[in-house]
Amino acid sequence: MKRTKNDTSRYTGLRAQIFVVLAVFVLVVLAILWVFQLFLLKPMYESIKSSELRVASERIADSTDKADMQSLTDTIAKRGNICISVYEIIGRDAILRANSHIQGSCIIHNVTSDSLMNRLYAGALADTYYTERISENFFVSHTVSGGSTGDVPESIISSRLAKTKAGDTYLIVLNAEIEPVGNTTRTLSVQLGIITGILLIVAAGIAVFISQHISRPIAQMSKEARKLALGSYDVHFDGGTSRETAELGEALNYAARELSALDTMQKELIANISHDLRTPLTMISGYSEVMRDIPGEMTPENMQIIIDETKRLNALVNDILDISTMTGAGRKELACETFSLTDTVRRTLDRYGKLRTHDGYTITFECDREAFIFADRSKILQVVYNLMNNAINYTGEDKVVRIRQITESGMCRIEVTDTGEGIPKEQLPQIWDRYYKVKNYYKRSVTGSGLGLSIVKNILLLHGAEFGVRSEVGQGSTFWFALPEVPPEEAALDP
Ligand code: ADP
Repeated sequence: MKRTKNDTSRYTGLRAQIFVVLAVFVLVVLAILWVFQLFLLKPMYESIKSSELRVASERIADSTDKADMQSLTDTIAKRGNICISVYEIIGRDAILRANSHIQGSCIIHNVTSDSLMNRLYAGALADTYYTERISENFFVSHTVSGGSTGDVPESIISSRLAKTKAGDTYLIVLNAEIEPVGNTTRTLSVQLGIITGILLIVAAGIAVFISQHISRPIAQMSKEARKLALGSYDVHFDGGTSRETAELGEALNYAARELSALDTMQKELIANISHDLRTPLTMISGYSEVMRDIPGEMTPENMQIIIDETKRLNALVNDILDISTMTGAGRKELACETFSLTDTVRRTLDRYGKLRTHDGYTITFECDREAFIFADRSKILQVVYNLMNNAINYTGEDKVVRIRQITESGMCRIEVTDTGEGIPKEQLPQIWDRYYKVKNYYKRSVTGSGLGLSIVKNILLLHGAEFGVRSEVGQGSTFWFALPEVPPEEAALDP
């Protein structure tokens, strides 16, 4: 599917996306904080204070037998920031026995109200532990000693009755203020407002920073990629400082280098092919014209030249076809079968060797026994043919080519040896490359296309075969390949 330039314009930029994500994150975090601070702080504080009051009143109730009640209530009051009054109930009177007044504006020490005292006593009588929340409205109807009603904060008050071993009854009254929480909440909400503003500015800053490090290199790389798509290989992908974008840049640089190499290779290939095709064609047309125009030139030698050049042309075209079907998209599947490699080599030799013997070549084949392999017969035949052809083309003055079959350790190995110039060590790895011809080789211009060994390599790789070459300059070369041998008894079973 082709994407036009306009398609991308409907996508949001990276910077905006990062900012939106960060802003949403900041707002969610702040929303949680706001809910906790503004709505849950007071109820939570109240419930904590209530349970503190209960624990404190239980402790005092458990200690009414002790002589020094005042110091106990002082300690508890200080630690919990609560006011405590302990009364002994004698008849209808309540006599103050211990009194700890911590919070200046607490209700139990500031409000003179019999009805409140009676309610606390009645509550304690009915429930073992009585608690009451005092709202601001409470003060409107009560007299507050030493101040206006507005000075007395909201509170929780609790009462409990305790009996001593001696049978005395005590009323324990506690008071904890909860009003300051309201002020705190107001302060917090202002603070949270300021924090929200600061965090949003920070989020925008982070978005700009991140996008500088990510979107800028991406934008640069896409610009370079567009140049590359237009066929310009002089590009550099700068991946910036992030690992991912740096890796992407590296990968794109690598792809650009490979594309450039491929392009060069393709151009060379076309130049080579045209050159190789032109030489025999020139020869054929030249000789044909000579034979047509000049009397007495219609000789068998000239005819032979035309035939040889036609064959060469044919071989070249076949090579090009083979190489294009063996690699890339044209790669064909192997049609494997079990067959006698020995027999295949021998027959090729017979057919091909006969042609060559009257040129003075000696081609020998040594084999220990008949060996079978499981492979694509026509392709292996092509390998043998190509290796043999090279050996004949490049062998020495004695025109000897030796083919050997060695079967050992479950492998069947074919070696093709010639007595030619050999190949310099440093060029050995390249000879398998497409269109590679050994440099300064005196025979190179008159012989092959440089495709033969590349075809051999592709076929053998497709088969998963082992292969290689040993060569000594001035001594000759031995090209070999080895495939797993199928035991003769198994081969006999294969139809
Ligand atoms: P070509 O068709 O040119 O022979 P190949 O791919 O078969 O192409 O071989 C590549 C190059 O390897 C040849 O051009 C030649 O220089 C070198 N080469 C191949 N076989 C031999 C050999 N038996 N002895 C010496 N050089 C060889």
